Amino acid sequence: MHITFKDKVLSLYRRTIRKHKWLKVPMLILSVILLAIDRLIRNIKAGLHKYIVVIASMTFAFVSCSFSSVIWGDGQYDFTYDVTSYYYETEASAASLAIETDVDTAMIEADDEADEIELTDPENIDDISELDTVSGADIVGEIAQSGEGGEMFASAEEAGEPEFSRDDWQLVLVNKNHPIADDYTFTLGTIKGSMQCDERIIPDLFSMLEAALNDGVNLVICSPYRDDSRQQMLFDRKVNKYTAQGMSYLEAYKVAAQTVTIPGSSEHQIGLAIDMISDNYSSLNAGFGDTPAGKWLAGHAHEYGFIIRYPEGKEDITGIEYEPWHLRYVGKNAAWVLYNESITLEEFWEKYL
Ligand SMILES: [Zn+2]
Repeated sequence: MHITFKDKVLSLYRRTIRKHKWLKVPMLILSVILLAIDRLIRNIKAGLHKYIVVIASMTFAFVSCSFSSVIWGDGQYDFTYDVTSYYYETEASAASLAIETDVDTAMIEADDEADEIELTDPENIDDISELDTVSGADIVGEIAQSGEGGEMFASAEEAGEPEFSRDDWQLVLVNKNHPIADDYTFTLGTIKGSMQCDERIIPDLFSMLEAALNDGVNLVICSPYRDDSRQQMLFDRKVNKYTAQGMSYLEAYKVAAQTVTIPGSSEHQIGLAIDMISDNYSSLNAGFGDTPAGKWLAGHAHEYGFIIRYPEGKEDITGIEYEPWHLRYVGKNAAWVLYNESITLEEFWEKYL
């Protein structure tokens, strides 16, 4: 049997990655380069050298231009980045490079059985007993005792003719494509104990808790503001879990990014997101949406300026699985629009901002 150069490269690639999974990406790139050189040599032999010279020159010119724009460009590369974020960005670009390369070399990958990866909800937690929680009944009861009720439950804003602005803090868009701006600032207010969120949303939050109680639903807040280090910890924990299952770091990062928001792109870090369940349903999972509390939130949260940020059926737009428990404050005017039109914050931005 005739063994071609291509067969040799493919077999070298397979043998190497079987032994050393972490060499997958470098080996993939190396294989592509080797095959390209082989193709080039064979084409020159076949008399196609004139075209090859033209294509090679154009490629060289293009690559040179790209390189110089990176090196001498508009200063997009901020070398003062802390090591962690630089590391993650590098990993993310390596991941997308790997994906592109994968497509080009589908043939190489053909018999490399890909593990089916089961995606879970970003914040899916089946047992919240380890988390701090506080219920609406506790909060409302305490305020009623202290006699501050009237003031605490006053709405933060007056309803009026909706006018939306990109600069409105209530509408800030945070997702994988829109990380939190470096200069974003806000003041934390205390919900209860160590639980905090943006202080500007607390009056509406408390009004919502009280209204739910009046309808017989005791909402439980279990994860409001999280600082960067906590978000980083949640992310690292996922990556570690996947690497422990045998994935390479790169694969683990890719999957983790789909299941936990990458540090710097979580609404919990700007104090505008609150995870809520009820006193008789203690899991952060999709099933919450079918409980009385989940239904109450879906039907009433907008009246207090909150939205279900990651609705069912909009996963391709938000990039996040259905999370009936994750509420985001956007202010009443926007919340009503989002609710009435059944749109996500991403779609709202597209349409109104
Ligand atoms: Zn959340």
